[in-house]
Amino acid sequence: FTKYIGVRHTIGTGSGTSALQVALMALGVGSGDEVILPAMTFYATGEVVALLGAQPIFVDIDPKTFNLNLEKVEASITKNTRVILPVHLYGQPVDMDPLDNIAKQYGIKILEDCAHSTGATYNGNKVGNLGTMGAFSFYPGKNIGSIGEAGAITTNDDHLAQLCREYRDHGSIKKFIHNRIGLNARMDGLQAAVLSVKLPHLDSWNESRRRIVKQYLDLLSNKVAELPQKNANIDHVYHIFQVQIEQRDKVFRLMREHGVEVNMHYPVPMHLHPGFAYLKYKKGDFPVAERLADRTLSLPCYPEMKEKQVNKVIDILNDVLSKQHFKHKCK
Ligand SMILES: *Cc1c(COP(=O)(O)O)cnc(C)c1O
Repeated sequence: FTKYIGVRHTIGTGSGTSALQVALMALGVGSGDEVILPAMTFYATGEVVALLGAQPIFVDIDPKTFNLNLEKVEASITKNTRVILPVHLYGQPVDMDPLDNIAKQYGIKILEDCAHSTGATYNGNKVGNLGTMGAFSFYPGKNIGSIGEAGAITTNDDHLAQLCREYRDHGSIKKFIHNRIGLNARMDGLQAAVLSVKLPHLDSWNESRRRIVKQYLDLLSNKVAELPQKNANIDHVYHIFQVQIEQRDKVFRLMREHGVEVNMHYPVPMHLHPGFAYLKYKKGDFPVAERLADRTLSLPCYPEMKEKQVNKVIDILNDVLSKQHFKHKCK
């Protein structure tokens, strides 16, 4: 994995969540610190920040890329900002050059959340090799999945790598000597074995995902749903292919009734989760993330999916939407 990502160090962990947690511990994040992250991501990205006693600072997303809005990032920096935690959402890398400039200017570290984006590149470099550290998830549903739970941290920094190795294993690097308060966040050896066998196939699986998305984009019309766009200097790995749609909850239900396993990523933005109520954000704070949460619909997209199956999903979606439209008109 170290060679695949092009970094100096990989530290295997028990999950993507523990990869994020251990990386933040190595970066020294704790009480009084602030960590900037997007308002649209999986809960764990903010959860680990809060768990360490630091303050998650949510920032709205860009309406085209669905990734961190960089202007809003800069406006959210304070003297307490310790880390910026960009998420390469859906498998699309964040525009890292300008983010890196902001981080350098303020002396802030970047921890990439690469859970959706294993194998994705930005200007030819793999995610996980674009910031100070990267955190990966090998949850079974991710682009490369274990048969249980697993994750990894990547970094080019020897000292941070050493700290991660200690924190993930009870603060210990040598048996019976415990240097700091850590965790059991080690990767299970069985998962490592499975992942080693799967890794050589990852690029071809990601290529299949791109082929499936191309078929979707060629056959779906922007009149039917708002289709995502991508920047030219990145390789998107489409962990999730989502479109935006009116009356999403109804379309979701009808698609499921027709046997199509659509999904939602994510129906609740970070600041509106009950778990983060203590942060005192309110509805309306992050309008772009809120609009996406109400409208996003993920269509099936996995490497083994056949051309015929994609066509069928498109047919059913068109059918469901035309009926929706009809009902709407009758009212
Ligand atoms: C899956 C995921 C995680 C957590 O990874 P686990 O392996 O499930 O702990 C973190 N961030 C994002 C964006 C994810 O999708």
